[in-house]
Amino acid sequence: MRSIGFISEKGGVAKTTTALNVAAAIGQGGKRVLVIDTDPQGNASHVLLRGEKPRRPALFEVLTGGADAGEAIVPTHLDGVDVLPADASLADATVVLAAEVGRERRLREALDGVGGAYDFVLVDTAPTRSILTTNVLNAVQELIVPFTPGLFGVLGLGQLQGDVAQVRRYLENKTLRIGGIVLTQVEKNNVHRELEDQLRAMFGALVFAAKIPRSIKVEEAHARHESVLTYAPKSIGATAYKALAREITAHGQREADRHDHTGGHPATDHAA
Ligand code: ADP
Ligand code: MG
Repeated sequence: MRSIGFISEKGGVAKTTTALNVAAAIGQGGKRVLVIDTDPQGNASHVLLRGEKPRRPALFEVLTGGADAGEAIVPTHLDGVDVLPADASLADATVVLAAEVGRERRLREALDGVGGAYDFVLVDTAPTRSILTTNVLNAVQELIVPFTPGLFGVLGLGQLQGDVAQVRRYLENKTLRIGGIVLTQVEKNNVHRELEDQLRAMFGALVFAAKIPRSIKVEEAHARHESVLTYAPKSIGATAYKALAREITAHGQREADRHDHTGGHPATDHAA
Protein backbone atom coordinates (compact mmCIF):
# COMPACT_ATOMS: atom_id res chain seq x y z
CA MET A 1 0.00 0.00 0.00
CA ARG A 2 1.15 3.50 -0.80
CA SER A 3 -0.45 6.44 0.95
CA ILE A 4 -0.32 9.96 -0.43
CA GLY A 5 -1.67 13.22 0.98
CA PHE A 6 -2.59 16.04 -1.42
CA ILE A 7 -1.77 19.13 0.53
CA SER A 8 -1.34 22.89 0.25
CA GLU A 9 -2.18 25.80 2.46
CA LYS A 10 -3.83 27.41 -0.49
CA GLY A 11 -7.41 26.78 -1.47
CA GLY A 12 -8.23 26.45 -5.14
CA VAL A 13 -4.93 24.90 -6.26
CA ALA A 14 -6.73 21.67 -7.30
CA LYS A 15 -5.96 19.43 -4.33
CA THR A 16 -9.38 17.83 -4.54
CA THR A 17 -9.44 17.72 -8.32
CA THR A 18 -6.03 16.09 -8.39
CA ALA A 19 -6.82 13.53 -5.68
CA LEU A 20 -10.03 12.56 -7.50
CA ASN A 21 -8.59 12.32 -10.98
CA VAL A 22 -5.44 10.49 -9.91
CA ALA A 23 -7.70 8.07 -8.01
CA ALA A 24 -9.81 7.57 -11.12
CA ALA A 25 -6.73 6.97 -13.29
CA ILE A 26 -5.14 4.49 -10.89
CA GLY A 27 -8.48 2.71 -10.42
CA GLN A 28 -8.92 2.41 -14.19
CA GLY A 29 -5.50 0.82 -14.28
CA GLY A 30 -6.86 -2.09 -12.22
CA LYS A 31 -5.49 -1.06 -8.84
CA ARG A 32 -7.57 -0.66 -5.68
CA VAL A 33 -7.78 2.91 -4.42
CA LEU A 34 -9.21 4.43 -1.26
CA VAL A 35 -9.89 8.18 -1.20
CA ILE A 36 -10.07 9.66 2.30
CA ASP A 37 -11.75 13.05 2.46
CA THR A 38 -10.38 15.03 5.40
CA ASP A 39 -11.84 18.37 4.32
CA PRO A 40 -15.05 19.36 6.18
CA GLN A 41 -16.14 21.00 2.93
CA GLY A 42 -16.56 17.47 1.62
CA ASN A 43 -15.91 18.31 -2.03
CA ALA A 44 -14.30 14.98 -2.85
CA SER A 45 -17.10 13.11 -1.07
CA HIS A 46 -19.68 15.15 -2.98
CA VAL A 47 -18.27 14.00 -6.33
CA LEU A 48 -17.61 10.41 -5.27
CA LEU A 49 -21.08 10.00 -3.69
CA ARG A 50 -22.71 11.70 -6.70
CA GLY A 51 -24.10 14.55 -4.63
CA GLU A 52 -25.57 12.35 -1.88
CA LYS A 53 -24.82 13.26 1.72
CA PRO A 54 -22.48 10.75 3.36
CA ARG A 55 -24.35 8.31 5.57
CA ARG A 56 -23.11 7.83 9.13
CA PRO A 57 -20.66 6.75 10.25
CA ALA A 58 -18.25 8.90 8.23
CA LEU A 59 -14.74 10.19 8.90
CA PHE A 60 -15.89 12.15 11.97
CA GLU A 61 -16.90 8.96 13.79
CA VAL A 62 -13.72 7.19 12.69
CA LEU A 63 -11.48 9.92 14.11
CA THR A 64 -13.42 10.37 17.32
CA GLY A 65 -13.64 6.68 18.12
CA GLY A 66 -17.28 6.05 17.23
CA ALA A 67 -16.65 3.68 14.34
CA ASP A 68 -14.01 1.64 12.56
CA ALA A 69 -12.82 2.86 9.17
CA GLY A 70 -14.23 -0.28 7.56
CA GLU A 71 -17.74 0.72 8.63
CA ALA A 72 -17.46 4.15 7.03
CA ILE A 73 -15.88 3.20 3.69
CA VAL A 74 -18.25 2.97 0.73
CA PRO A 75 -17.72 1.97 -2.91
CA THR A 76 -18.03 4.62 -5.64
CA HIS A 77 -19.07 4.70 -9.31
CA LEU A 78 -15.40 5.03 -10.31
CA ASP A 79 -13.73 1.70 -11.12
CA GLY A 80 -11.64 0.44 -8.25
CA VAL A 81 -12.24 3.50 -6.07
CA ASP A 82 -13.73 3.48 -2.55
CA VAL A 83 -14.22 6.55 -0.38
CA LEU A 84 -14.06 7.28 3.32
CA PRO A 85 -16.27 10.37 3.17
CA ALA A 86 -16.62 13.57 5.17
CA ASP A 87 -19.14 16.33 5.54
CA ALA A 88 -19.40 19.58 7.50
CA SER A 89 -19.68 17.73 10.82
CA LEU A 90 -16.01 16.86 10.44
CA ALA A 91 -15.20 20.42 11.48
CA ASP A 92 -16.42 19.48 14.99
CA ALA A 93 -13.70 16.83 15.19
CA THR A 94 -11.14 19.56 15.86
CA VAL A 95 -13.08 20.51 19.01
CA VAL A 96 -13.86 16.97 20.10
CA LEU A 97 -10.26 15.81 19.60
CA ALA A 98 -8.67 18.79 21.34
CA ALA A 99 -8.58 17.10 24.76
CA GLU A 100 -8.39 13.49 23.56
CA VAL A 101 -5.47 11.14 24.07
CA GLY A 102 -3.77 10.16 20.83
CA ARG A 103 -5.54 12.85 18.84
CA GLU A 104 -2.72 13.08 16.30
CA ARG A 105 -2.73 9.41 15.44
CA ARG A 106 -6.41 8.70 14.80
CA LEU A 107 -6.09 8.62 11.02
CA ARG A 108 -2.86 6.63 11.25
CA GLU A 109 -4.69 4.00 13.31
CA ALA A 110 -7.55 3.91 10.85
CA LEU A 111 -5.12 3.37 7.97
CA ASP A 112 -3.39 0.56 9.84
CA GLY A 113 -6.76 -1.16 9.94
CA VAL A 114 -7.88 -0.82 6.33
CA GLY A 115 -4.86 0.20 4.25
CA GLY A 116 -3.93 -3.40 3.51
CA ALA A 117 -7.00 -3.79 1.30
CA TYR A 118 -5.76 -1.08 -1.10
CA ASP A 119 -2.87 -0.46 -3.46
CA PHE A 120 -3.18 3.31 -2.98
CA VAL A 121 -4.72 5.49 -0.30
CA LEU A 122 -5.13 9.08 -1.50
CA VAL A 123 -5.98 11.68 1.11
CA ASP A 124 -7.60 14.99 0.24
CA THR A 125 -7.00 17.81 2.72
CA ALA A 126 -8.42 21.18 3.71
CA PRO A 127 -6.26 24.25 3.16
CA THR A 128 -6.48 25.22 6.84
CA ARG A 129 -3.93 23.76 9.22
CA SER A 130 -5.66 21.91 12.04
CA ILE A 131 -5.59 18.67 13.96
CA LEU A 132 -7.10 17.16 10.79
CA THR A 133 -4.09 18.04 8.65
CA THR A 134 -1.76 16.96 11.46
CA ASN A 135 -3.52 13.59 11.38
CA VAL A 136 -2.87 13.40 7.64
CA LEU A 137 0.81 14.33 8.04
CA ASN A 138 1.17 11.67 10.72
CA ALA A 139 -0.53 9.00 8.61
CA VAL A 140 0.65 9.15 4.99
CA GLN A 141 3.98 8.11 3.50
CA GLU A 142 4.31 11.06 1.19
CA LEU A 143 2.83 14.41 0.21
CA ILE A 144 2.02 15.80 -3.20
CA VAL A 145 1.70 19.56 -3.43
CA PRO A 146 -0.43 21.00 -6.25
CA PHE A 147 0.72 24.38 -7.46
CA THR A 148 -1.27 26.72 -9.68
CA PRO A 149 1.01 29.32 -11.29
CA GLY A 150 -0.08 32.85 -10.64
CA LEU A 151 -2.29 32.11 -7.65
CA PHE A 152 -0.55 34.82 -5.64
CA GLY A 153 2.69 33.15 -6.65
CA VAL A 154 3.57 31.45 -3.40
CA LEU A 155 4.10 27.74 -3.08
CA GLY A 156 4.36 27.65 0.72
CA LEU A 157 6.72 24.71 0.54
CA GLY A 158 8.97 26.09 3.28
CA GLN A 159 6.16 26.02 5.81
CA LEU A 160 5.26 22.50 4.75
CA GLN A 161 8.86 21.36 5.12
CA GLY A 162 8.80 22.76 8.64
CA ASP A 163 5.63 20.81 9.40
CA VAL A 164 7.17 17.63 7.97
CA ALA A 165 10.23 18.08 10.18
CA GLN A 166 8.04 18.56 13.26
CA VAL A 167 5.97 15.47 12.52
CA ARG A 168 9.13 13.40 12.09
CA ARG A 169 10.52 14.74 15.32
CA TYR A 170 7.51 14.69 17.63
CA LEU A 171 5.08 12.17 16.13
CA GLU A 172 5.22 8.59 14.83
CA ASN A 173 5.66 9.23 11.12
CA LYS A 174 9.47 9.23 10.98
CA THR A 175 9.71 8.76 7.21
CA LEU A 176 7.18 11.33 5.98
CA ARG A 177 8.43 13.03 2.83
CA ILE A 178 7.39 15.40 0.10
CA GLY A 179 6.91 13.20 -2.94
CA GLY A 180 6.38 15.88 -5.52
CA ILE A 181 4.96 19.15 -6.76
CA VAL A 182 2.42 19.13 -9.57
CA LEU A 183 1.58 22.10 -11.75
CA THR A 184 -2.19 22.51 -12.05
CA GLN A 185 -4.61 24.76 -13.98
CA VAL A 186 -1.73 25.76 -16.23
CA GLU A 187 -2.54 28.29 -18.91
CA LYS A 188 -0.74 28.99 -22.14
CA ASN A 189 0.67 32.41 -21.46
CA ASN A 190 4.06 33.92 -20.73
CA VAL A 191 3.43 34.46 -17.04
CA HIS A 192 2.57 30.81 -16.46
CA ARG A 193 5.48 29.67 -18.62
CA GLU A 194 7.93 31.77 -16.63
CA LEU A 195 6.55 30.61 -13.29
CA GLU A 196 6.79 26.99 -14.46
CA ASP A 197 10.40 27.50 -15.54
CA GLN A 198 11.25 29.05 -12.18
CA LEU A 199 9.58 26.23 -10.28
CA ARG A 200 11.45 23.57 -12.27
CA ALA A 201 14.74 25.43 -11.87
CA MET A 202 14.19 25.65 -8.12
CA PHE A 203 12.92 22.17 -7.38
CA GLY A 204 14.19 20.04 -10.27
CA ALA A 205 13.07 16.44 -10.24
CA LEU A 206 10.65 17.12 -7.39
CA VAL A 207 8.31 18.70 -9.96
CA PHE A 208 6.33 16.12 -11.91
CA ALA A 209 6.93 16.24 -15.66
CA ALA A 210 3.17 15.92 -16.23
CA LYS A 211 1.34 19.21 -15.80
CA ILE A 212 -2.40 19.73 -15.72
CA PRO A 213 -3.78 22.32 -18.14
CA ARG A 214 -6.70 24.52 -17.22
CA SER A 215 -9.61 22.99 -19.08
CA ILE A 216 -13.33 23.51 -18.83
CA LYS A 217 -13.85 19.74 -19.10
CA VAL A 218 -12.17 19.25 -15.73
CA GLU A 219 -14.67 21.61 -14.13
CA GLU A 220 -17.67 20.21 -16.02
CA ALA A 221 -16.73 16.73 -14.85
CA HIS A 222 -16.94 17.90 -11.23
CA ALA A 223 -20.36 19.40 -11.73
CA ARG A 224 -21.54 16.04 -13.09
CA HIS A 225 -19.96 14.12 -10.20
CA GLU A 226 -17.49 12.51 -12.57
CA SER A 227 -13.75 12.37 -13.01
CA VAL A 228 -12.48 14.02 -16.17
CA LEU A 229 -11.32 10.55 -17.25
CA THR A 230 -14.87 9.21 -17.22
CA TYR A 231 -16.55 12.42 -18.40
CA ALA A 232 -14.22 13.35 -21.26
CA PRO A 233 -11.74 10.49 -21.72
CA LYS A 234 -10.02 12.04 -24.74
CA SER A 235 -9.71 15.55 -23.33
CA ILE A 236 -6.37 17.18 -22.55
CA GLY A 237 -7.28 17.12 -18.87
CA ALA A 238 -7.86 13.37 -18.88
CA THR A 239 -4.63 12.76 -20.79
CA ALA A 240 -2.68 14.93 -18.36
CA TYR A 241 -4.10 13.27 -15.27
CA LYS A 242 -3.37 9.81 -16.72
CA ALA A 243 0.24 10.90 -17.33
CA LEU A 244 0.49 12.20 -13.77
CA ALA A 245 -0.93 8.97 -12.35
CA ARG A 246 1.62 6.97 -14.40
CA GLU A 247 4.43 9.08 -12.96
CA ILE A 248 3.13 8.71 -9.43
CA THR A 249 2.77 4.92 -9.70
CA ALA A 250 6.10 4.48 -11.51
CA HIS A 251 8.14 6.79 -9.36
CA GLY A 252 7.76 4.98 -6.06
CA GLN A 253 11.43 4.10 -6.22
CA ARG A 254 12.64 7.60 -6.89
CA GLU A 255 11.06 9.21 -3.89
CA ALA A 256 13.95 8.56 -1.59
CA ASP A 257 16.16 10.58 -3.97
CA ARG A 258 13.55 13.27 -4.18
CA HIS A 259 13.41 13.53 -0.47
CA ASP A 260 17.16 14.08 -0.33
CA HIS A 261 16.67 16.85 -2.81
CA THR A 262 14.18 18.71 -0.60
CA GLY A 263 15.84 17.94 2.67
CA GLY A 264 18.28 20.81 2.51
CA HIS A 265 15.91 23.68 1.80
CA PRO A 266 15.53 26.21 4.57
CA ALA A 267 12.15 26.56 6.23
CA THR A 268 11.16 29.72 4.48
CA ASP A 269 8.42 30.39 1.98
CA HIS A 270 9.59 29.98 -1.57
CA ALA A 271 8.18 32.54 -3.89
CA ALA A 272 7.79 30.90 -7.28
P1 ADP B 1 -8.69 22.79 -3.82
O1 ADP B 1 -9.16 21.42 -3.42
O2 ADP B 1 -7.19 22.91 -3.79
O3 ADP B 1 -9.36 23.88 -3.05
P2 ADP B 1 -10.19 22.30 -6.22
O4 ADP B 1 -9.72 20.96 -6.66
O5 ADP B 1 -11.51 22.34 -5.53
O6 ADP B 1 -9.08 23.01 -5.35
O7 ADP B 1 -10.21 23.23 -7.51
C1 ADP B 1 -10.66 24.58 -7.41
C2 ADP B 1 -11.58 24.91 -8.58
O8 ADP B 1 -10.83 24.88 -9.78
C3 ADP B 1 -12.70 23.91 -8.74
O9 ADP B 1 -13.87 24.60 -9.16
C4 ADP B 1 -12.21 22.99 -9.85
O10 ADP B 1 -13.27 22.44 -10.61
C5 ADP B 1 -11.39 23.95 -10.69
N1 ADP B 1 -10.29 23.27 -11.39
C6 ADP B 1 -9.34 22.48 -10.85
N2 ADP B 1 -8.48 22.03 -11.77
C7 ADP B 1 -8.90 22.58 -12.96
C8 ADP B 1 -8.43 22.51 -14.31
N3 ADP B 1 -7.35 21.78 -14.64
N4 ADP B 1 -9.10 23.21 -15.24
C9 ADP B 1 -10.19 23.96 -14.91
N5 ADP B 1 -10.69 24.06 -13.69
C10 ADP B 1 -10.05 23.37 -12.70
MG1 MG C 1 -10.45 20.84 -1.90
